[in-house]
Amino acid sequence: MSRKTLLFVLITLILAPLAVFAGGQGETSFVTIGTGSVTGVYYPTGGAISRMINAKFDEYAIKATVESTGGSVYNINAVITGDIDFGIAQSDRQYQAINGLAEWSEAGPQADLRSVFSIHPESITLIASTASGINSVADLKGKRVNIGNPGSGQLQNSKDILEGAGLTDADIEAEGVEAVEAPGLLNDERIDAFFYTVGHPNGNIKEATAGRVKVMIVPIDGEVADNVTGKYPYYAKSLIPVKEYPMAANTEDIPSVGVKATLVTSASISDDVVYAITKEVFDNFDDFKKLHPAYQVLTKESMLAGLSAPIHPGALKYYEEAGLIEYINPDLIK
Ligand code: GLU
Repeated sequence: MSRKTLLFVLITLILAPLAVFAGGQGETSFVTIGTGSVTGVYYPTGGAISRMINAKFDEYAIKATVESTGGSVYNINAVITGDIDFGIAQSDRQYQAINGLAEWSEAGPQADLRSVFSIHPESITLIASTASGINSVADLKGKRVNIGNPGSGQLQNSKDILEGAGLTDADIEAEGVEAVEAPGLLNDERIDAFFYTVGHPNGNIKEATAGRVKVMIVPIDGEVADNVTGKYPYYAKSLIPVKEYPMAANTEDIPSVGVKATLVTSASISDDVVYAITKEVFDNFDDFKKLHPAYQVLTKESMLAGLSAPIHPGALKYYEEAGLIEYINPDLIK
């Protein structure tokens, strides 16, 4: 064997396992999924999706990782700038971003935003210490209330709910900390209540109900619920199941107003990557549903409702193949 041939053989031997490692498809695609606070439902949802896709590395050569972030608004903005590839975002925030409303009223419509699918329902959850005497949204007047960090989905939801009761954030002592810190502040009696738009059950509300201070989930119902669902198309009435929080002072399911969690991406993400993620979640739908109790109510049809941004072509390719296209609002097919 000449030295040249020997070198060739050696290089081939070194590179061959790498080609197998990359799934034989060339380069590995590294994708990040932006989620929320670690005690919410977005974080485990990002984990569930990334584990499913990483398990098929040999087929797709995709390596997904999850980032804990400030929430929906942060995720939408980071998807648009390309800082992350996918993000979980509330359906109402998706609607606002694509239409240039709320946090996007100055920047205008986020035309590159694409939807992939909807996930679990989320309720605007208002939780207060029983000692604070807060039994309704109107009782928040003059109280110390965490309305959500900038970047979160709940910040605008809190303002809408206050508005529904004829209040503004100037009528309360508003705090703007991340959801992960709120249960601790409530139990240290440094706040009286907090808002969190989140799926149920979740670790955050469990933590808040399991502390030293007795707390209750405050109903958002009557005129307040009628006002916000009447004014904004993306809110629907919902119920928070009391059985998930046996330590809360509540005895019945709690009426509220809700939205949906959705998976969003940017028009610049490749069709192959979006196709693979969509296919893995839908082809393994029964397994996916078992990954979090908040997914119990999911159906394939419900996962295609509540979207406002155009469907990414990679996802659309899968929905066509799987015969799911009939469930998609034709306005979202571009
Ligand atoms: N809905 C919250 C937000 O967008 C996050 C909820 C969660 O992490 O489960 O900010």
